[in-house]
Amino acid sequence: MKNVKVKCPGTVANLVCGFDILGMALHEPNDIMRFKLLDEPKVVIINKDEFNLPTEPEKNVAGVVLLSIMEKLGDNTGFEVEIEKHIKPGSGIGSSAASAAGAAVGANHLLGNIFSNDEIVQFAMNGEKLASGVKHADNIAPCILGGVTLIRSIHPLDIIPIPSPDLYVTVVHPQIEVRTADARQILRKQVLLKDAIRQWGNIAGLVTGFLKNDHDLIGRSLEDVIIEPVRSILIPGFNEIKSKCKEAGALGGGISGSGPSVFMLSKNEATAKATEQVMKDVYDRLGIEYNTYVTTINKKGVEIVSGE
Ligand code: ADP
Repeated sequence: MKNVKVKCPGTVANLVCGFDILGMALHEPNDIMRFKLLDEPKVVIINKDEFNLPTEPEKNVAGVVLLSIMEKLGDNTGFEVEIEKHIKPGSGIGSSAASAAGAAVGANHLLGNIFSNDEIVQFAMNGEKLASGVKHADNIAPCILGGVTLIRSIHPLDIIPIPSPDLYVTVVHPQIEVRTADARQILRKQVLLKDAIRQWGNIAGLVTGFLKNDHDLIGRSLEDVIIEPVRSILIPGFNEIKSKCKEAGALGGGISGSGPSVFMLSKNEATAKATEQVMKDVYDRLGIEYNTYVTTINKKGVEIVSGE
């Protein structure tokens, strides 16, 4: 195979109580990436969008992933990649993870699927390290595998896909900047035992709710007593959006990734759309520009669209 086109989904990481360990893939938005094999050991990046991301391979998430694959191969293989980004960088819906995961899956496909899923996740995590300074997989894993995933451990890598109900997801991306570094820095380093107990009760409840298709249990468990109370101060309107979306029928939700996007889960499309309207009303009133998505959980992950 000489070239391949892949579709890389946006993802919601830090799934409320599941900070750093639970993530899910979305049907919308998606990046598109096109890859070509080169017979010289180099990476060529061509941007097909308006985001002006770096084209030097060492500074672009996709480039870093491809370089790490080339290092592993140790031969004369190289890659050209065209990136058409629709997931805005810094949105909190896994823009860097889409490029990292897409690069690992696209390259693996061109090479004849020589790597395992765990190896693909490992390559892709090199890209996340460039974007956020730490190797984490809670966007990468759902982006590659689809659905909801639990990252039980990074060392050693232990990723568990969790079957989930067909829920609707409403996302609002207020056009403000929340730097991932700032969002990490304001977190407390220690937690109270009573908060930890409440949090792990919620994580167990959320996972059980997904497995048993129990919407009420999912709703009750979508509570974060550790991260959200601190981080939400970086997101204007957060508390109002959350309480009004729940009044409109949403099961619950929270900050997507490290923000500024906020997501809500709903049982059906009508509620997901009512939730979207609540988000729009709040940001219209606050005079903050935004994008919204009403979508569903993507069970497939990165998809090979075509190749020849
Ligand atoms: P998100 O949660 O939306 O991925 P991050 O802040 O984690 O946002 O990552 C975005 C950062 O990574 C930006 O600083 C951006 O310039 C950088 N970056 C480098 N290459 C890429 C890429 N291919 N896609 C997205 N972001 C990239």
